Amino acid sequence: MTKPEIKRREEELQSKRVCRFCLEPDASLLSKIYEQQTKCSTAPLTLQIMACVAIEVYPGDGMPEFICGTCRGVMEHSYQFKQICKKADSLLKSFLTSGEWPAKLTVPKLMPQSPPATVSLVSSIR
Ligand SMILES: [Zn+2]
Repeated sequence: MTKPEIKRREEELQSKRVCRFCLEPDASLLSKIYEQQTKCSTAPLTLQIMACVAIEVYPGDGMPEFICGTCRGVMEHSYQFKQICKKADSLLKSFLTSGEWPAKLTVPKLMPQSPPATVSLVSSIR
């Protein structure tokens, strides 16, 4: 493979309009990873991605800069779930010192993202 060919592929990779996490190519389902969402979320998307799937994403990293609605929803949900798990862990451990049994925590339901409406988590992972 020649140098110009590698360069061309690098440019194609970076400018590709696909979801970076499931390779969804339908442009109507995609939004930019680095654009601030109006929807209130628990943490910035890039932080959620790092925490949930341990992939470091940043502008100009040479990769596609889009995410689909499904992956965005799953990322948000996974992040919240991870927070709940960590909270439960620390509450259970603090029982040893406090002697107070912690109350039940609420696991967030998977919220549909718009657009598009998210199908079930199971069917989107298959
Ligand atoms: Zn996706």
